[in-house]
Amino acid sequence: MGSSQSSVSAMPPKGKRVLIIGAGPSGLVALKELREKGFDATVLEKASGVGGAFRVAYDHMFLTISTKLMGYSDFAWAGRPRYAPRAEYVEYLERYVSFFQLEDGLSFNTDVTGAVLKGSGKWEVEAEKDGKKMVMTADRLIICTGSNHNPKYAPVPGFTGETMHSSDWRSNKQVAGKRVMIIGNGESSADIAADSAEIAKSVVLWARRPAPMGPRFLNQKSGDELSSMEAMQLKGSRTELWELLETVTTSPVSQLVSPKAYSNMRLEWFEGTLKQANYDTAHLAAVLFKNACSSVEDGFKRTDQIFAVTKSLRMLTATSQGKMDLVIAKKAKYEGKKVTFSEYSQKNFEWPVEASRVETYDVDVVIMCTGFKNDFAWLKGVTIDWNCRNWFKNCIPPGYEDKLAFLGWTRPHQGGIPACSEMLSRYLGQIWSGEKSLPSNWKEQGQVDKKVAESYYKEAADYLTVVDYPSFMESMAKLVGCEVRRPSIFNLKRFVQYYTFPTYPAWYRTQGPGARPELIERDLQNHTMFEAIGPGGLTFSWAWKKAIVQVWLVNPLFYAFSFFGIMGKGMGNGWYWAKSKKYSGLHGLNMRAKDVVAP
Ligand SMILES: Cc1cc2nc3c(=O)[nH]c(=O)nc-3n(C[C@H](O)[C@H](O)[C@H](O)COP(=O)(O)OP(=O)(O)OC[C@H]3O[C@@H](n4cnc5c(N)ncnc54)[C@H](O)[C@@H]3O)c2cc1C
Repeated sequence: MGSSQSSVSAMPPKGKRVLIIGAGPSGLVALKELREKGFDATVLEKASGVGGAFRVAYDHMFLTISTKLMGYSDFAWAGRPRYAPRAEYVEYLERYVSFFQLEDGLSFNTDVTGAVLKGSGKWEVEAEKDGKKMVMTADRLIICTGSNHNPKYAPVPGFTGETMHSSDWRSNKQVAGKRVMIIGNGESSADIAADSAEIAKSVVLWARRPAPMGPRFLNQKSGDELSSMEAMQLKGSRTELWELLETVTTSPVSQLVSPKAYSNMRLEWFEGTLKQANYDTAHLAAVLFKNACSSVEDGFKRTDQIFAVTKSLRMLTATSQGKMDLVIAKKAKYEGKKVTFSEYSQKNFEWPVEASRVETYDVDVVIMCTGFKNDFAWLKGVTIDWNCRNWFKNCIPPGYEDKLAFLGWTRPHQGGIPACSEMLSRYLGQIWSGEKSLPSNWKEQGQVDKKVAESYYKEAADYLTVVDYPSFMESMAKLVGCEVRRPSIFNLKRFVQYYTFPTYPAWYRTQGPGARPELIERDLQNHTMFEAIGPGGLTFSWAWKKAIVQVWLVNPLFYAFSFFGIMGKGMGNGWYWAKSKKYSGLHGLNMRAKDVVAP
């Protein structure tokens, strides 16, 4: 951790009062970055402290990405990478506040009830603080209220039992002895299902469509992910980077793997590497993955790039231990406390299942892990399209670029929201202070980015906030002017680390505005050269059969196509170089092979 603050710009922009709503990871970094640019910024937060969703979430919530990728660029999380429990992340945020002396910019217990953009161009913001109404004015508003805030409920017509949303979940004591049905197969449903299975009378998890689930660990050490995460917290435990899923999905070198080979390796690896620790879970993951891939066009070719993979195997472990049922079926019919599923495609390990199968479960409580929706009825005087993909970089709504921004609507499927919000905050600071302008074609570019994102994540059509970490960060770095300074090949250790480690936020401080190259340097010193590709890593532990395919067949093809990339042909999103021109430039980043191979 650094010992001094980043530099504060010399001339404060006059009359630029900014109100930031929400003190989660996005609001805090906005406060810090805008203050550094001289803005008079304040955060209004309805809770009594920082942390946002992490402050109120359930007992067994662990980060789905490691502490290394969840840290901010100039406040790296010290120590080895871990999947930390949520409470520890809140502590990290508290340390961030105190280190950058942000306390006086935070107004807790302040519930914003309305915001109106007046004809004068100023915002009038109404809030309730400790039971008292207050009105504030601001030149600009940043909404950091979280995309995980307003529950979206699933219809359960005819069901007479209890219903709850994942946001109401605190611990499995809530379902002790009950017959539970969980709807959805994302990260919170994976945790809730696994925890319920410990204590409930019965658990069935229902999803209409199969979603691929991936492990957080590449070398699951024990039978279950939760105990592996708990073991990670113990003093003296050491996790190597190659053990973490994010290493093979967010490092620059991972951008070079062809999608087909990656997909093959992934399927084999489920049944290969994880087999030693927990064969049944791995096998079930593979069955689910295959079901998901086969259910959509191009599924086997594009895997991660078409779905949003759930980074948890916990509920699959519970299923394979016979503690719960996994039902993938198109229809559910409710009658009193009975739920009948039909049009199955998978039941536990069985896939495909006879489509004519019909099964009925007794259910006391339905837990809806069906996500969240935007609710901005309190925002007045603006006409905005609420599909965040219409906002430049999922942040700046056209027509209000000097008035309003949203942070937190960028959820990388590998990588963290905080790093994306930080990059966007740095950019907002620059454009709102007049230091930089938006690109002349930003509105058109925003529409192109939207179309590409829609085709890319086409099987996660409702998941509008999802972004691809490497390309999003790189595209923002180009705007901010802080592209990573790649180490020289003569500094071999750093060079290898650059290509094989995930691109941690601190890399975006190696040059440009707010540069503090010593931060990543300090961090890398604690790691060995080959830690991300070490023994048992990518090359060896990913099933040997497909590794041969990758090495002997696919890589030469890849390099041949890369050659054309180097010659100037667009490389698409970094992986989609050969498929079709339509996959060009995720997040406006028309990456070329030379950007990765020879930057
Ligand atoms: C199981 C699970 C694991 C996850 N793991 C990760 C992970 O590893 N990495 C990751 O990046 N994300 C993870 N997430 C998602 C995580 O919730 C978000 O990354 C994070 O909370 C986003 O931060 P934010 O600041 O944008 O919003 P939030 O954390 O939701 O904060 C919004 C804040 O706004 C406040 N607020 C809302 N409305 C008002 C109002 N009207 N007035 C005043 N204050 C208001 C809220 O009280 C809250 O404090 C996970 C989520 C789950 C469920």
